[in-house]
Amino acid sequence: MPELKILVAASEMVPFIKTGGLGDVLGALPRTLAAQGHEVRMFIPYYETLNTAGHHLEDVGWSLEIPVGNKRVIAEFSFFRDKRSGLQTYFVSNSDYFDRPGLYGHPKTRKDFPDNDERFVFFARAVLEAATRLGFRPDIVHAHDWQAGLMAVYLKTIYADDPFYDGVASVLTIHNLAHQGLFQKERFANLGLPKELFWATGPFEFYDKVNFLKAAVSYADKITTVSPRYAEEIQTKKFGCGLEGVLKQRSDDLVGILNGVDYAVWSPSHDRRLPFRYYPANLSGKRMNKIDLLGTAALPVREKTPLIGIISRLVHQKGFDLIRDAADRLFAMNIQMVVLGTGEEKYHKLLSRLEKKYPDKLKVFLVHDENLAHRIEAGADMFLMPSLFEPCGLNQMYSLKYGTVPIVSKVGGLVDTIIDFDPDSAKGTGFVFCEETPEAMLSAIERACRIYAKRRTWTKIMKAGMRQDFSWDAAVDRYSDLYERLMDTQNT
Ligand code: ADP
Repeated sequence: MPELKILVAASEMVPFIKTGGLGDVLGALPRTLAAQGHEVRMFIPYYETLNTAGHHLEDVGWSLEIPVGNKRVIAEFSFFRDKRSGLQTYFVSNSDYFDRPGLYGHPKTRKDFPDNDERFVFFARAVLEAATRLGFRPDIVHAHDWQAGLMAVYLKTIYADDPFYDGVASVLTIHNLAHQGLFQKERFANLGLPKELFWATGPFEFYDKVNFLKAAVSYADKITTVSPRYAEEIQTKKFGCGLEGVLKQRSDDLVGILNGVDYAVWSPSHDRRLPFRYYPANLSGKRMNKIDLLGTAALPVREKTPLIGIISRLVHQKGFDLIRDAADRLFAMNIQMVVLGTGEEKYHKLLSRLEKKYPDKLKVFLVHDENLAHRIEAGADMFLMPSLFEPCGLNQMYSLKYGTVPIVSKVGGLVDTIIDFDPDSAKGTGFVFCEETPEAMLSAIERACRIYAKRRTWTKIMKAGMRQDFSWDAAVDRYSDLYERLMDTQNT
């Protein structure tokens, strides 16, 4: 396959910055594309909270003036070259826009920054301008989520007659349709586009507001999302977040490509964050991790009691209202639970209240802690993910690898990754519940607990999960195919 030049932009990337799965995906996908021979340049904002430890960043030695509305804003750039894969990551700096305590809003108030439109107009244009300055003419521009999505819009508007970008194709990946980049219509002027482009039901207008993601969906040459099931779901009213109509119109250009797992980071056999490593052939380390985790959680060690783990943003999407409604029935069962997460205040309060009520059964860590995330994956027996919608979900795939049996709702990427246990054939990798009710969730947990007591069957389920392979190579092949097909259509 010929090597392609790919320009990628997103607002998160592991190991530099992450609030959720988006960061994990961008930490692996561009690097794997580069390792497969493509020439990849990746751009992210240089946030105040960026973690550059162990990475030597170089200054490009020039800056650019970027038009944002009627302002001209200075963009500075530094970069890091990953020697192994050849991936070059560029960091776009502007202290007014990115020297803030949070990425999209203030962590304390949890309110979005009022100038997020300006910040990401600046980012999208700065990336396209920098590629020109670098003389890096891409075959493909791959924008992730609304924060980078305007690049697809600009290629067909501001840069439509620019010979540098002539024939360049764009791909938009939607990681979570719940986040669209919505702004008051008066802010449209900040995009630097003719005002005639903003009209009722047009590509930018959404209930009298400006919608960055809708515009990106309308202008991108191809649209992907992070699982096949979610690609279908978002074309329906239930999951479309108001964009189902636009997505349906583009259904010929919309595909679902399941995210991969970076097994260099998430494998119990060589995970340096674990006190005890283990393998499918010898699971004794998992038992030790459980005892160790119970110790950290200050929960009584009850080895025969199933320990359920949750690692999650604490938001409505992740099913915490189901947990609230099921709580007393759940903790009446013979289980223990460890929860790691941060998010909405009301869920912090809910979980803290439950922790006080069930001190020997529940421990809650209301922080972001990478090490603890790994230790929970390893130490728990089961992993609960009762999401109301789930574009892909990564933790259920990590759980499979760690022999931590997932209990999941039947939505999005959870459907594409977890096989419900069938007692007749004794086959399956987890427990899936169909209805969005506390009863359905509780009954899946009960089913799991019953099987947990049958050690041989349980070990079989664990091992079936550990054998699953969701490595990035398969996903990257699908992206490469998509790019190739897109290039073919551009050239005909
Ligand atoms: P989403 O992107 O919707 O948050 P995913 O399952 O796709 O959900 O990815 C979540 C990622 O964020 C996982 O890598 C998970 O381990 C991590 N994560 C979520 N909350 C925390 C936390 N409090 N501490 C550490 N890691 C977390």
